[in-house]
Amino acid sequence: MKHILYNMLFLLALMMVSGCTDSMEHAENSNEATSNASSVTAQGGLETSVTGPVVVYSSRQEHLIKPLFDLFTAKTGIEVQYQTGEEGPLIARLQAEGDRTFADILYTVDAGNLWSAAEKGLLAPIDSPVLEANIPAHLQDPLNRWFGLSVRARTIAYSTDRVDPSSLSSYEALALPEWKGRLCLRTSRKVYNMSLVATMIERLGQEEAQRVVEGWVENLATRVFSSDLLLLEAIAAGQCDVGIVNTYYLGQLQAQNPDVPVALYWANQESSGVHVNVSGAGVTTFAKNPAGAKKLIEWLSTREPQQLFSELNLEYPANPGVPPVDIVAGWGTGRQDILNVEVAGRLQADAVMLMDRVNYR
Ligand code: FE
Repeated sequence: MKHILYNMLFLLALMMVSGCTDSMEHAENSNEATSNASSVTAQGGLETSVTGPVVVYSSRQEHLIKPLFDLFTAKTGIEVQYQTGEEGPLIARLQAEGDRTFADILYTVDAGNLWSAAEKGLLAPIDSPVLEANIPAHLQDPLNRWFGLSVRARTIAYSTDRVDPSSLSSYEALALPEWKGRLCLRTSRKVYNMSLVATMIERLGQEEAQRVVEGWVENLATRVFSSDLLLLEAIAAGQCDVGIVNTYYLGQLQAQNPDVPVALYWANQESSGVHVNVSGAGVTTFAKNPAGAKKLIEWLSTREPQQLFSELNLEYPANPGVPPVDIVAGWGTGRQDILNVEVAGRLQADAVMLMDRVNYR
């Protein structure tokens, strides 16, 4: 009786995980995968049993992850089920589920989010020579609880009609009086800006970082935006002349209008290098299929999926051996800040308080 109840609960959970429309199909497939347990040889020659599907909680949208997971399944025969949602609720859910969770992997954007999941004890260290070889040290958790898989640069965007790029230099310089009434920013509530300010606190110290952010707020041309795309459209429309954005949003805008009069400037080339962040993943502490989860994350760090990351969201591969797609390469290359991205999490609370103190909303 207990056994039947457990099976019913398991099926129900799988239906929830795989969404409502085709949930039965997924549940059937996963039973099949469970009974056809396959075996892989892990690094170091240890025989690890990979049984059943790998379940991913992802804050990335379906169109950005499905092609990757489909390719993984085609190559390995291991099914991937996923549940997408906003990062906050997904992490809260993982925490609430505890050891009952069906999630094997948490996949999300921004080291700030990955750090916070790791701090809550939701991610287990991955011991993987493959990941150590493919992912640079500054793009992974020092304790190996998460690894960056794609890189996004957050840099300066400017109006090609109204700004001479030789007048640009750094994030800090956007606080100077010459930019008064000319700067657009996205809301400080977005983790991307928390992470940027966190790295500024690390490099400049609290006082100097606060002086910069205060200057930004004084220079604002408009109220803060809810998205980088709206911000770029505001530059194109003449509401402001400069802003700070993740580069792939310009790619999205250029896809709609190749002649949009906005360009990217690589910030801080004379100092820290341009601010970068990651999308990345970790194996959950209570994963039911940790071997399959590790195999998927390792595979995501290799050439073909790394290229797909760049294609699907116009990001940079985290694996430095893999070039980005042409449109991304066309923006040129900026020297990256090689400060470990975990600082985004470690100093996130300080960044939030700092932005609050200077009324950056
Ligand atoms: Fe984004």
